[in-house]
Amino acid sequence: MRIYFGGTFDPVHIGHVQLALELAALFAQGKVYLMPCYKAVHKERVMASAAQRLAMLQLATEEYSNLIVDTRELEQDSPSYTYNSLCAIRQEIGTEPLVFVIGTDSLISFPLWYHSERLAELTNLIVIERPQASFTIGGTEAVSSHENARHYIERVLALGFEEITQPGLLEKYSAGKLISLKLSQFDVSSTRVRRLAHDKKPINHLVGDKVADYIKVTNLYQNQEA
Ligand code: ATP
Repeated sequence: MRIYFGGTFDPVHIGHVQLALELAALFAQGKVYLMPCYKAVHKERVMASAAQRLAMLQLATEEYSNLIVDTRELEQDSPSYTYNSLCAIRQEIGTEPLVFVIGTDSLISFPLWYHSERLAELTNLIVIERPQASFTIGGTEAVSSHENARHYIERVLALGFEEITQPGLLEKYSAGKLISLKLSQFDVSSTRVRRLAHDKKPINHLVGDKVADYIKVTNLYQNQEA
């Protein structure tokens, strides 16, 4: 089974790393692929360059042999569509189970993703609950909370996913299953890290020492409003 965790990672933070480690520990094959996008289709802007985001991901994961950085989207030099990446991965792995991991905020925009109606043919989904936060989607303010996560899960199920409750079942199906998992809660976002860095406030507790040093040395996020 292949587990992919996609994101902008601008910058990678402890929420990403700890959740990836928890997911790796849940399954027998025990590896998670972190896949940074080149340009996020659903984000207005990405502040760090592709090379900087990759450098931070490598620093954050280098001590964990079960976390692997997949650079395919960064190498494309064009907007990243999860559909295209999953098609490429599917070609490589044949019928092996494939899992894509998203937080509840990404779940909200999921039906708007490119070819969202075809994603259930390609991959299983793990939805991880994220502490309440608000997000702007298509100009509309949406709130991801425990209460309304259900509503957004239903919209994704309408795209052809079938909900399961036993994580172990993911290893038996190549695609089309969705499971909502409540893992540890990390009240952290890249936006918060960028704002703190911009205000020259400590970020080590949110990104770890190596990434914090990188951000400091490169003056990343210091000159732009997050
Ligand atoms: P930003 O604040 O810039 O929007 P982010 O913190 O959401 O960034 P991304 O790189 O956009 O980070 O996230 C990649 C994936 O990780 C998304 O599916 C997102 O929902 C999930 N994710 C990020 N942070 C958390 C968290 N603290 N808890 C659960 N999921 C998270």
